Amino acid sequence: MDTNNNDDTNQKKHFVETIAKFCNRCGAPYSLNDFNIIKSTKTSTIIHFTCSKCKAEHIANISQKGDLQRTPMLTDLHSFYEVNKFVKLKRIPLNEVLDLYNSFKENKDKSL
Ligand SMILES: [Zn+2]
Repeated sequence: MDTNNNDDTNQKKHFVETIAKFCNRCGAPYSLNDFNIIKSTKTSTIIHFTCSKCKAEHIANISQKGDLQRTPMLTDLHSFYEVNKFVKLKRIPLNEVLDLYNSFKENKDKSL
């Protein structure tokens, strides 16, 4: 178990040093605690990081080749835990879909 934690810490150190030293919104330096590894596979790692100062959230997808795709989060998921919840779901529960459908329907009705 400790080995896993060390791996995570090393990976996070790597991210801070090579990928995101500073927030591209406010320029505040990132620390290890700002990073969360969402998913790590043999071919790529998906990380979520939040600026501790301005709370800007990013998700980056790093392939083992070193290619980096860094994207600001354009969702209404407001925390790593929420993102992680959805990433871990194999399929979206029907009631979540219905909730979404109903909220679209409500908004549509309002705009008429
Ligand atoms: Zn920031």
